[in-house]
Amino acid sequence: MTETCLFCRIAKAELPAHRLYEDDEILAFLDLHPIRAGHALIIPKAHHVWFEDLPEDLATRITTCAQALARRMKTIYGVERVSLFYTGIHVPHAHAHVVPMHDVHDVTSQAYLQDGPEGYSIPPQLPADRMEQVTQELRAAFGPD
Ligand SMILES: [Zn+2]
Repeated sequence: MTETCLFCRIAKAELPAHRLYEDDEILAFLDLHPIRAGHALIIPKAHHVWFEDLPEDLATRITTCAQALARRMKTIYGVERVSLFYTGIHVPHAHAHVVPMHDVHDVTSQAYLQDGPEGYSIPPQLPADRMEQVTQELRAAFGPD
């Protein structure tokens, strides 16, 4: 399972990602189809399918990383709130979404229903240079490299 898991492979740096933060236990990187610029994912490096099965210290570490990203997003994007959620869809490896909320409907928009209520229409990708800019801006949440 873990050999073919997309997020396990990103955690092991077998696949590229716009990496924002990592330590021995977790990795934060940009979502390739961001709801808003800066939309980040935080994963445990170990393969866990469901967030409710994460050990408490690991879940706390993910939340603490999300808090740092949220504070940085508020500074960069001037948003009032940042959303943190797990959905458990697309990749069966627990991942927390951190999304700067420019609009109260950002994470519940009917834009995601274009493929019908049983589907989920993923947002478009950003240009590569914009993704690199966002990566540099958000990395500052964790201090200088
Ligand atoms: Zn995995």
